[in-house]
Amino acid sequence: MRLIDLLVTNATELVTSRTDARGAAGAALRTLDVIANGAVAIDKGRIVDVGPTRTLRRRHRARRTLDARGRLVTPGLVDCHSHLVFAGSRHVEYEQLVTGEAMPGKRLEGGIRYTVARTRAASAAALGAQARRDLDRMLAHGTTTIEVKTGYGLDRDTELRMLRVIHGLRGHAVDIVPTYLGAHVLPAEYADRREAYVRLVIDTLPAARRWAEYCDVWCDTIAFTAAETERIARAALALGYRLRLHADQVGDAGGAALARSGVVGVLLPSVTYHMMEMIPKLDGAALVPAAKPFWPALVRRMIDRGMRLALSADYNPGTSPTLSMQSVMQLAARLYRLGYAEIWHMATINAAHALDRGADRGSLETGKRADVVVWSVPEHGMVINRFGTNLVDAVVANGRVAWSAAR
Ligand SMILES: [Zn+2]
Repeated sequence: MRLIDLLVTNATELVTSRTDARGAAGAALRTLDVIANGAVAIDKGRIVDVGPTRTLRRRHRARRTLDARGRLVTPGLVDCHSHLVFAGSRHVEYEQLVTGEAMPGKRLEGGIRYTVARTRAASAAALGAQARRDLDRMLAHGTTTIEVKTGYGLDRDTELRMLRVIHGLRGHAVDIVPTYLGAHVLPAEYADRREAYVRLVIDTLPAARRWAEYCDVWCDTIAFTAAETERIARAALALGYRLRLHADQVGDAGGAALARSGVVGVLLPSVTYHMMEMIPKLDGAALVPAAKPFWPALVRRMIDRGMRLALSADYNPGTSPTLSMQSVMQLAARLYRLGYAEIWHMATINAAHALDRGADRGSLETGKRADVVVWSVPEHGMVINRFGTNLVDAVVANGRVAWSAAR
């Protein structure tokens, strides 16, 4: 019998999210691997065994036991797209979007550029402190890995400062994957000098590579063209970056054409919800049809074509100010009409694949990083059926109990 660090026992359902080596796609999305009365054995930050509680109790002696007492146990949630580091909440302009009325006495600067101005003015210490507070809450809601982008600096100094802040978040229980998004939008001061800004983004790539693993570009009618995107992407690849892409959120700039086999599409239902894309608008007495009522059919078509899909909160102050992947999973069911098994795959193993970490985490399998969530409910469907409160009871990150509701 082996002595190990931690044994998680007595899960009514132990969702493993085990799939083939590429993650879940097509019909396989609908079959979730669940072990009844399951347990996970953990040692030195890694999963060393998974199976029925009775079997694992025979095989391992643990320094510490976390008894799930009939509750649900799953892999830690992977949030593969975020704009975690910023200054400047945008709740004031949001009221205007909701009501359709200009707020008297409130002159609102627009959108991302508002956040850019506040972020440029913020110190690294202030940005880091807020990001750390947000990470604490994400952890409490079950997230154990998150991708974090720059993109609110849009000048060399602030973009590199953001990357240093992101780098400084290492050591938090939520594991960070850093991305350079210099090509987020065209900053106001470059409004008629697109070419100069694209060159600035490319010229910053070598310095940013010290901290960033990925390079991201927003390819869209209101951001960068497909040709500009390709130039930035080629320069990034030459420096050893891996690529991510914001494609066609607003219009069709040709970005989706880049989605070939191997690409993981990331769905953002909290954006659909927050921007009210599926709700008709009132314009005076007239009802204007919803901007994007086609979401459920579009998502189903992507699944039917065998595309790999993941879910993310896209945490940002403009289009998705939520820290909770649970809320995202709940919205994916209600807005995109996805089933429970599909949603669990997309929030765990497929999201890990979206960060090229599918072999390392995202499922409860021997050898993987020990990121585990113990929920307050016994079955995985209940996490999606319920909504509005935090259903997490405990989070194990990298083999250690990093958060607990009982504390
Ligand atoms: Zn984004």
